[in-house]
Order: sequence, then C-alpha cells, then structure tokens
Amino acid sequence: MAIYITDECINCGACEPECPNNAIYDGGIEWAYADGTGVSGVFNLVDGQQVDADEMNAPVEDDFYFIVPDKCTECQGFHEEPQCAAVCPVDCCIPMAEQLQTMEEEFEQSGEEELKQKIQTMKSDKNLIESEERLLKKKEILHV
Ligand code: SF4
Ligand code: SF4
Repeated sequence: MAIYITDECINCGACEPECPNNAIYDGGIEWAYADGTGVSGVFNLVDGQQVDADEMNAPVEDDFYFIVPDKCTECQGFHEEPQCAAVCPVDCCIPMAEQLQTMEEEFEQSGEEELKQKIQTMKSDKNLIESEERLLKKKEILHV
C-alpha cells in the first residue's frame, strides 16, 4: 500500500528530498506524474488507467505535506524501508490501511459526515492494499 501523511505533519520538509519517486509535495502544490520520474506524455498506470504524465493535478492536501498514492512504491526497489517514514521526526508517515483503521475508529465516536466521506474515498483507492509485485511494477512504469 502507499504511505499516507497524517495531519500531525509539522511541515518540516525532511521527507520530500528523500523520496525516490518524487511522490511527496508541500501542501497546496500542484503535482504531475512526470515530476522527478522517467515518464512523459500519455502512459498507463499499473491498473491500466491512462493518464497524461505532464498534466498538472490539484493538490491532495492544502495545509500539510502529502503523498501522491499512484507515485508511492513504498520505496520498493530503492530502499529497504519507506524513507519518508524513516526521516519523519513526528512519525506521521504511516501505511494507508493503518490510517483508514484510525479514521474508522474516530468516525464510530464522532459520526462526523466529513470523516465518513474521507473514509469512502480512501476505501475506493486502489493503493490501499498492494502486493510487492504491484509496487515493483509501479516503480518500473514510473522510471521507464
Ligand atoms: S514510501 Fe518511499 S516512495 Fe513512498 S512516498 Fe515515502 S519516500 Fe516516497
Ligand atoms: S518529515 Fe514528517 S513532519 Fe516533516 S514534512 Fe514530512 S511528513 Fe511532515
């Protein structure tokens, strides 16, 4: 699965230069698949979805650093462990599945509608659970 940055992020920026896929962005910044990868033009993601690598996309988060799930390979093929999590001083880089579980527990207590929508969005994310093979395939695609 991809790594997720929680709202405990203190915006220190330590993780960003460590990412081999340039998957980490400062809050509010537009992003593209082509940033820091080997892809350009139209190409197919690992699930077959066709995208324009050079197209700029809306920020995933506005207030703190975020990770683009389709660019995160959990550092497979580059490092033994996720580098963002290794350098983060407040341990807020966690697996998406772990974050989903936390959010579901919070929702049970609060019943907050906004949280419910975030959970639904996350549950539909194909990056929530990934095999090592899929992560390596993603790396292959991003660095062709
Ligand atoms: S786990 Fe690795 S590839 Fe994913 S965002 Fe963190 S540093 Fe980048
Ligand atoms: S290292 Fe941690 S606290 Fe610093 S910007 Fe990255 S996610 Fe946020």
